[in-house]
Amino acid sequence: MTLLRDPLLNKGTAFTAQERHELGLRGLLPPCVLTMETQVERVLVNLRTLPTDLEKYVALNALHDRNEALFFRVVVDNIDEIQPIIYTPTVGLACQKYGLIFQRPRGMFISSRDRGQIAAILENWPYPAKLIVVTDGERILGLGDLGANGMGIPVGKLSLYSACAGVHPELCLPIVLDVGTNNEELLNDPYYLGLCERRLTGEAYDSFVDEFMVAARKTFPGVLIQFEDFANHSAFKLLHKYRDEACVFNDDIQGTAAVALAGLFSALRVNGGKLRDQRILFLGAGEAATGIADLVTSAMMAEGASEAEALRSNWLVDSRGLVVSGREGLSGHKLRYAHTDQAPIADFLTAIKTLKPTAIIGVAAVGGAFTPDVLKAMAALNEQPIVFALSNPTSKAECSAEDAYRYTEGRALFACGSPYDPVKLNGRTFVPRQGNNSYIFPGVGLGVIASRSRLVTDEMFMAAAHTLADCVGKEDLAQGSLYPALPRIREVSVRIAAAVADVAFQRGLADGPAPNDVKDLVQSQMYEPKY
Ligand code: NAD
Repeated sequence: MTLLRDPLLNKGTAFTAQERHELGLRGLLPPCVLTMETQVERVLVNLRTLPTDLEKYVALNALHDRNEALFFRVVVDNIDEIQPIIYTPTVGLACQKYGLIFQRPRGMFISSRDRGQIAAILENWPYPAKLIVVTDGERILGLGDLGANGMGIPVGKLSLYSACAGVHPELCLPIVLDVGTNNEELLNDPYYLGLCERRLTGEAYDSFVDEFMVAARKTFPGVLIQFEDFANHSAFKLLHKYRDEACVFNDDIQGTAAVALAGLFSALRVNGGKLRDQRILFLGAGEAATGIADLVTSAMMAEGASEAEALRSNWLVDSRGLVVSGREGLSGHKLRYAHTDQAPIADFLTAIKTLKPTAIIGVAAVGGAFTPDVLKAMAALNEQPIVFALSNPTSKAECSAEDAYRYTEGRALFACGSPYDPVKLNGRTFVPRQGNNSYIFPGVGLGVIASRSRLVTDEMFMAAAHTLADCVGKEDLAQGSLYPALPRIREVSVRIAAAVADVAFQRGLADGPAPNDVKDLVQSQMYEPKY
């Protein structure tokens, strides 16, 4: 019975007659022995009868809790269909309803009441974690402060690590640092499962996170820690504090940057432009926007632009208008892009008409912000405008794929943060693909773990961006796809992981000498969901 209840060992109705005999399972299962293929089919049949994505999310979670191999087989073989359920956009709703749909805990909840005992608490985790995804729930997707309900995000991301890059589920540990919430609705919600108190701030917050960081690295030596969905005042601070001493990265800043840069490389293959000649206008000036702008700046410099030229090719619009020099109260991460000799501009459309960008990138979580007028303005300025509507979930997307193509007469080079169906326009079918960091972080994590790198560097994200772009074929570009098809994700992740591990070996960050074949090393460590 213990075996049937252990998701890492359970095969359910697929235990063979001999296994049932040897393991004392006879009589505990119905007599028919199913193959894994039939089990997968049955899961899909059941799933497809469920009326809402949230119900599908709950059903898949339950499967994950019962039979890990079967869950991952279903995900890996049906990634196009399942990723939007276990990750964005459905995971956003799942976080909002977390207290209501909660069935079994997954991951670890470390609250500010655990101060002083975090190391002892981490010892309760029964597996040897090599990869932690941690959030404090303050900025979940574009949905704001969801407190401990944010656990859905580390859980979802780690599922993608195992599905998309074969990081073994046993090595993955999702963590919520529950430091309270300032979300009034949650504080008044009888089903909210986190601490019903306001967020810890200032020195109390910093020392709590620091205790966690020390404890995590002591309990799980060499562990890779991914910061996820922290509000931007904490995200930049934590990344800068730990990136040179610990194996950490922030996916919202660095992973997003790599996926967006890869999309730009693809778009430029279509319109024949050079990156260093682009003028990019961001809607948003937070983690995603400045992360992308920083990596784009480095890539422009690699093409020969001076730092000043590269920086001036990137412009940010935040909730108070264009970021320009002299504007009061600008946070530190925006300062590089606060350009001189430009008067303040209050709105995005005027900024487009004034700055004449070749590309607009939406990462402000303001749904519908790329209005028909914005899209028409981009089409008037550019033969093939680059339009990336990257905000999540779908309700926060700057525009739909259909609008992007329709209002640019099918000329937009488009990528989206949420999945959209193909669009038919003027006899052409466009297949938009997600500029989602799920193309990047699984491969980066696998590469870091396989090489046992001490640090995660920007050079690794640059390598990841180039590798992802190299995976896009001519046939993808011909149909408007700036990313490879999702079902190729494991092959793409292997290539990204090998590129990342290469950087680790070349820079002396890896633990041990470089192997003859880095790709072999990476592949040898991948988890394959099978019995
Ligand atoms: P953030 O909170 O760090 O930044 C949001 C920014 O938007 C802030 O600079 C804010 O000033 C600005 N903003 C808010 N209202 C605005 C308005 N009306 N006009 C202009 N700017 C406005 O968040 P983030 O981490 O940068 O994420 C932003 C969005 O990008 C979220 O929806 C997130 O889900 C999405 N995102 C998508 C991906 C992806 O892979 N597609 C990756 C990371 C983030």
